[in-house]
Amino acid sequence: METVRFDELDLCQEILRGVKEMGFEEASPIQAQAIPVAMQGYDVIGQAQTGTGKTAAFGIPVLEKVNLNKDIKHPQALILCPTRELAVQAAEEIRKLAKYMHGIKVLPIYGGQDINKQIRALKGTQVIIGTPGRVMDHLRRKTIRCDYVNTIVLDEADEMLNMGFREDIETVLEYIPTEDR
Ligand code: AMP
Repeated sequence: METVRFDELDLCQEILRGVKEMGFEEASPIQAQAIPVAMQGYDVIGQAQTGTGKTAAFGIPVLEKVNLNKDIKHPQALILCPTRELAVQAAEEIRKLAKYMHGIKVLPIYGGQDINKQIRALKGTQVIIGTPGRVMDHLRRKTIRCDYVNTIVLDEADEMLNMGFREDIETVLEYIPTEDR
C-alpha cells in the first residue's frame, strides 16, 4: 500500500501539531485506512496487531469530532477498554495528540478509583476512556450523560468479550444515542 503522510489526512492544525510533536510523519496502515473513513462518519471495524498505532487510528477521528464549545458540558466520545492499564495508556496517547487543543479534557476512569473523585474529574470532560463496569456505574448514576456522545469506541473488543464484558457493553450501548444505527 502507498504511504500516507499525516499532513495529507485533512486534520485540523492543532491535531497535526500534536501528531508532529509525537514524531509521527507517516500514518501506519491501520491509521491510513481507518482515519479518513471514521472522519466521514462511517462505523469502522479495525483489526491490527498490538503496537501498530490503533490508539491514534481511533483517537484522531474522535478528537476531530470534539466541539470545544464550553457550553457543551457533557462527554462527546466514549472509549471502552478492557483494563485499567489500557485505559490509562490510551488516555496518555490521546492527551498527547490533543496537546494543542485548548480546553480539551481526556479522562481515564476505572473501577477501584474513588467514585466521588471521579465524578468531580468528569466535569467538563469531552473524551472518556473507561472500563465497561465503571462506565456503566456512572451511566446508572447519571454522572455520565450521553446526550452529546457522537462516537463510541470498543478498544480491543475481542479481549473485552473474552473477559466477559458482553452484557456490560450492551448495557452501555443502550445509553448511547444511535439514531438509526
Ligand atoms: P498503539 O498500537 O496505539 O499502542 O501504538 C504503538 C506505539 O506506536 C505508540 O508508542 C505510538 O505512540 C506509536 N505510533 C502510533 N502511530 C505511529 C505512527 N504513525 N508513526 C510512528 N509511531 C506511531
